[in-house]
Amino acid sequence: MADFGRSDLDTFAAEVRAWLAANYPRELRDPKQVVDPEAIWGGRAFAGSGDSHIVWMRRMAAQGWTAPTWPREFGGGGLTAEQARIIDREIAAGGYRTPLASFGLWMLGPVLLEYGDDAQKREHLPKIAGGDIRWCQGYSEPGAGSDLASLQTRCEDKTDHWLINGQKIWTSYANKADWCFCLVRTDATKKHEGISFVLIDMATPGVETRPIKLISGDSPFCETFFTDVKIPKHNLVGKINGGWEIAKRLLQYERQNISGGFGGGGGAGGAAGDLGRIARRYVGVDETGALADGDLRTRITRNKMDFQAFYLTLARVAAESRASAGPSAATSIIKYAAATLAQERSELMVEALGSRGLGWEGEGFEPGEKTATRGWLRSKGNSIEGGTSEVNVNVVAKRVLGLPDPKLG
Ligand SMILES: Cc1cc2nc3c(=O)[nH]c(=O)nc-3n(C[C@H](O)[C@H](O)[C@H](O)COP(=O)(O)OP(=O)(O)OC[C@H]3O[C@@H](n4cnc5c(N)ncnc54)[C@H](O)[C@@H]3O)c2cc1C
Repeated sequence: MADFGRSDLDTFAAEVRAWLAANYPRELRDPKQVVDPEAIWGGRAFAGSGDSHIVWMRRMAAQGWTAPTWPREFGGGGLTAEQARIIDREIAAGGYRTPLASFGLWMLGPVLLEYGDDAQKREHLPKIAGGDIRWCQGYSEPGAGSDLASLQTRCEDKTDHWLINGQKIWTSYANKADWCFCLVRTDATKKHEGISFVLIDMATPGVETRPIKLISGDSPFCETFFTDVKIPKHNLVGKINGGWEIAKRLLQYERQNISGGFGGGGGAGGAAGDLGRIARRYVGVDETGALADGDLRTRITRNKMDFQAFYLTLARVAAESRASAGPSAATSIIKYAAATLAQERSELMVEALGSRGLGWEGEGFEPGEKTATRGWLRSKGNSIEGGTSEVNVNVVAKRVLGLPDPKLG
């Protein structure tokens, strides 16, 4: 892509602004409009749907703006990182909905671009960018979480197909996903060098999912069982027994992406900017209009300042990753920081609400009062998902600081 000067970028921003304004479905501007919360994830469940969010997603995908930096031939926009940032900025500034949330966009797509063969890129990338297929991540197993390379799900070479048997756990949205990117064992005599990376259509006979109910009341995860599941030979990505390298690369994309999600304000604990306003409402203000509880005020201010510093670091790490060959082990630093700050914010939110924060369901509580404790409970997972905080600190020690190997993946 050509190098863009400032005025070219300004022209591009003006074009994006005009296009978004002209193409955002009118119904989505109506706050009373009921939109299916699942629509943002797309997938087979919404094939042929006329849901206004899906209309929006399809228009953005046709522009190549759901995956702006991917090549046009694979459903992307063929744009530069700077142009992609402009699109993000204009979406946020205009108050438009994010068109597509997708494990395919955030995790699988980038590694397919790097490790997939041409046929795999042509088959899967346009369907990811178009929101046609919803993906889940089959990494963790009952005996393989932090020590992921201990995974046991067996994948046997049956000459004309692969045969898969085993169990995954904590598979987010497996019961709603169409396909799964999955780590399997293809050589039981080796640990890291015996793992392969395969793609499994969840509609294949022998795939079963069982939702797990969490303390927050939600069931976002599943146990996923594979019993004599046959998949085509070309669903292996990269080399046989070469999956560990791809697995680690994908985790870097995952950690980078999760960190943006925690910091972005929509995650656990509510938006960072809301916290001060909510605290003033529930705790009260002093004669100067400041939050009446000085100690809480200091802690909220510190959390907001830390988030500001975090956003700047996140932007720098993201820019570095775009300018180089992609994300690095430094994503473990931001994943660790994002999880810590998001958990702290959730604690502050519950504290600010006081007894009103104990609302769970039923009459007598406002919507925010019913979600504060759920958000706080959900935030406990921030330091576990995508690799625990302890594991990320170990990665930083080993791969960023070059300290002796703590024997972790
Ligand atoms: C919200 C959420 C979403 C998730 N989604 C998915 C998904 O879609 N797909 C998927 O495959 N998995 C998913 N997971 C699973 C997640 O990847 C694992 O829970 C995580 O890797 C930790 O593994 P574990 O639960 O087995 O804990 P364990 O590995 O058993 O760890 C238990 C404790 O021991 C600590 N520990 C372990 N080893 C070390 C060590 N060497 N040094 C220091 N401390 C250590 C850990 O930090 C942790 O505190 C999700 C988890 C959460 C919370």
